[in-house]
Amino acid sequence: MGLEKFSKDEIEVICPCCNQSIYIEIGVDVDEVGSDERGMGIEIQYEFLTSVECYLCEIIIEVKGDVWEYPENVINDFEIIELSSECKKK
Ligand SMILES: [Zn+2]
Repeated sequence: MGLEKFSKDEIEVICPCCNQSIYIEIGVDVDEVGSDERGMGIEIQYEFLTSVECYLCEIIIEVKGDVWEYPENVINDFEIIELSSECKKK
C-alpha cells in the first residue's frame, strides 16, 4: 500500500559515483513496517524503495531505506539502507 502523505517531503542522498547531493521524494512506494507508542502519539516506521537519476552523471541510483513518522505527518528521521548504481566509466 502506498502513502500519499509524504509526497512533498524530500530526503537527501549522495550519488555513489560523483558525490553529488540528490534530493529524492518519498511517498510513492512506502510500506508501513512497524509502529511504536510514544508521548505525542504513534511513531510509524516505513520502508521505501525508489530510484532516482543523478542529474550530474546521468546514472540511475536505486535507493532503499526507512523513514520514521512522528508525530503524525512529520518525518522525524530517515535512514538509507542501500544505494546501488552502476557508474559510467569516464
Ligand atoms: Zn552522480
